[in-house]
Amino acid sequence: MLVVMRHNASKAEVGRVVGEIEDMGYEARSMPGKQRTTVGLMGNDGRVDSARIAGLPGVLEIIPVTKPYKQVSREWRSADTIVEVGNGVRFGGSEVPIIAGPCAVESEEQILGIAHQLKGMGASLLRGGAFKPRTSPYSWQGLGEEGLRLLAQAREATGLAIVTEALDPDGVDLVAEYADVIQIGARNMQNYPLLRRAGRCGKPVLLKRGMSATLNELLLAAEYLLADGNDDVILCERGVRSFDSHTRNLFDLTAVPVVQSLSHLPMIADPSHGTGIRDKVIPMARASIAAGADGLMIEVHPNPPTALSDGAQSLYPNQFSELMEQIRVIAHAIGRSVRGST
Ligand code: PEP
Ligand code: MN
Repeated sequence: MLVVMRHNASKAEVGRVVGEIEDMGYEARSMPGKQRTTVGLMGNDGRVDSARIAGLPGVLEIIPVTKPYKQVSREWRSADTIVEVGNGVRFGGSEVPIIAGPCAVESEEQILGIAHQLKGMGASLLRGGAFKPRTSPYSWQGLGEEGLRLLAQAREATGLAIVTEALDPDGVDLVAEYADVIQIGARNMQNYPLLRRAGRCGKPVLLKRGMSATLNELLLAAEYLLADGNDDVILCERGVRSFDSHTRNLFDLTAVPVVQSLSHLPMIADPSHGTGIRDKVIPMARASIAAGADGLMIEVHPNPPTALSDGAQSLYPNQFSELMEQIRVIAHAIGRSVRGST
């Protein structure tokens, strides 16, 4: 439930509403806005008797929040949330930032070389896993902290902001020391201790949809982050499991407009994991921009056949460059622009 205060409501009137909510055994969150203050009621599992609050001085109206997720819903906040990352890049506005880079950081030469190329082609953020969630325990697991150091070095050299994954709650603070955006991967979307820790890490979080998660489950996972105090959350569609084996996952592009209507959080798309096949990434990246995605995450490797993970879905740098040119035109056609456009 949201309590909207009149524009001239006094601090004491807002305080009284907060006190009344707390007296009823719930949590109150006061949110001062440009026009008026709203007070959110949290901690209820079912209907709340709003009559006690509706009659208090200074109260304009009560808006019921009907969804199981509260703070991430459009009912809670109607305006789009803009998430600003380290280097001034913003997700959720009319400019669309592009995240690009290899699946994993493999060496200094690999990550610095590709970072310079991607920067020149217009990417705004560099991705690369240092801690990799591999399906098999025998697969290469990433460079660990050394990978984080190399990413920080690439940021220093290029100005690109860094997105990289934290695999477990204890790893969050370490990743947050180096990264601008903490990624929570598909396999961890419902790892609640990890979400809670990331909610308190002080950095924006990129939350990827679980491979068999419904959109309600995605939004409820995001609610954990906001409930723990982190409003800077970017959501990401990355494909779900399906009965068809022609692609690695079923890239659910409908998720973009659906989530954008349910939530004020920015929603980006990852056609690399969504399709798993290099030559399918390109058309689905174009389609994602056309569908209104607030950003893209694209895997690009200097030499994909030698990649230590996800080579089959990684673009060659020249393919990425061509894709950037195409999505600039598409973004323009729908009244947006790709950040880093030349
Ligand atoms: C990744 O981004 O490299 C990754 C492992 O993604 P996902 O969690 O979507 O599989
Ligand atoms: Mn990958």
